[in-house]
Amino acid sequence: MKRRSKERAFHFTTAAEIRAGQVTDVYFERTRQILTAKKIDKHVIMEARVKKLPQGDWGLFCGVHEAIELFQGMPLDLWALPEGSLFQAREPVLLVGCRYREFSVYETALLGFLCQASGIATKAARCVIAAQGRPIYSFGARRMHPAIAPMIERAAFIGGCAGVASVVAARLLGEEPVGTIPHALILVMGDSVSATLAFDEVIDKSVKRVALVDTFGDEKFEALENAELLDSNIYAVRLDTPSSRRGDMLEIAREVRWELDIHGYENVKIFISGGLDEDLIPPLNEVADAYGMGTSISNARVIDFGLDIVEVEGDPVAKRGKESGAKQLYACKVCGKRTIALFTRPLKACPACRGKVEPKLVQFLKQGRLIRELPRPQEIRKRVLSQLPKEL
Ligand SMILES: [Zn+2]
Repeated sequence: MKRRSKERAFHFTTAAEIRAGQVTDVYFERTRQILTAKKIDKHVIMEARVKKLPQGDWGLFCGVHEAIELFQGMPLDLWALPEGSLFQAREPVLLVGCRYREFSVYETALLGFLCQASGIATKAARCVIAAQGRPIYSFGARRMHPAIAPMIERAAFIGGCAGVASVVAARLLGEEPVGTIPHALILVMGDSVSATLAFDEVIDKSVKRVALVDTFGDEKFEALENAELLDSNIYAVRLDTPSSRRGDMLEIAREVRWELDIHGYENVKIFISGGLDEDLIPPLNEVADAYGMGTSISNARVIDFGLDIVEVEGDPVAKRGKESGAKQLYACKVCGKRTIALFTRPLKACPACRGKVEPKLVQFLKQGRLIRELPRPQEIRKRVLSQLPKEL
């Protein structure tokens, strides 16, 4: 059977189409046509911000490196919060100074970069806070379209995940991919212990041995059996108990911990995965040493950034419900208070304590030229972890 001529083998857009402004809502394309026909070519400043966050009172800004990549070489100026910055609702996170006629067809792609990556990074960060120092590994690529796996995993990593499962995403991040044993290997080999032994025999010694102990038997007995056979080679056991059998995951994990301990396997760690979310993590921290998380991070709610014109030809103007004028966001270095002020009236000192303030939006592009180095994901992640709130 032949495919219909216009359908592609895989349903994703190409980098060339994004750069050509084809991933646009048609009304922006028509706007360009009209402005061209009417010979209107005005300079505007556009501002991105979110009115309301899906959860909590802060978000983690992510996706701006892709936006910078898209706009490099175009005649526009771009200021933004650096990748991995904390922000709050109503705060400006990005400003673009551009000729609107040429810019209009990029609005859709720009918001897409920011909304989804920020949603994932924020959710990952919330889970990382909930885990209180225990590593979280991102296993959720399988829930999303494969074309965007690298974006998802990068945002999860920047949000604080300790590693990602997807091979191509890990390679692009410059990290080793992280994984344990799938149920499929156990089913194909016949039992948990055979699979773990085969893994130990075949897979490079640098990869930690984590036995999966819930496929056929009871978690406690499979954990002990694996620990006895692999002895010092076993690093952890993973509990991925199906929800239909779960009852109380904490009780199951406690029991496994107890039995491992009294049999001399105090060093064997416990990984928990399967349907986790931030509210399920805190009680499990008592016994879990690490978590594998999928859907709740990869399918995180997007942050609904809007992009609005706030200046036309240097004059402040905005639609109803929106404050006009290009704005800078300041944070007080003494009391932490965040203040929004017009770019044209820079804030000299904190209005609350008169302390020194720091502008948070920084310029990345000057007429399309990158004027600031973009840090690697590892550096961004480190900074994120140092700045995250200690509790949700
Ligand atoms: Zn202050």
